[in-house]
Amino acid sequence: MAFNPSIVDLEALDKNEKTGLYQFVATLPDQSKVRLFMSKNPKWKLEDVNRLLNNPCPICRKDYYCKCMERHMGSLEASAIEQLGEQ
Ligand SMILES: [Zn+2]
Repeated sequence: MAFNPSIVDLEALDKNEKTGLYQFVATLPDQSKVRLFMSKNPKWKLEDVNRLLNNPCPICRKDYYCKCMERHMGSLEASAIEQLGEQ
């Protein structure tokens, strides 16, 4: 199955006043969750992404840390911005 980086749910967690980074948890169509670190200056930008370990990685199927999501930051960013626009 091809990896689909579209975000089906985006939950705001926290903002770090020092770094200006907002943390979100994004849910992907296969229920994988990723933590997004975004800045807003003035446009939203995805700065970093970590996969939460609730599910094996939808790309490489590892159930521990991997770098797959980082290769999809552009798509994740576009999808997150779309979700933020709808909130
Ligand atoms: Zn992976």
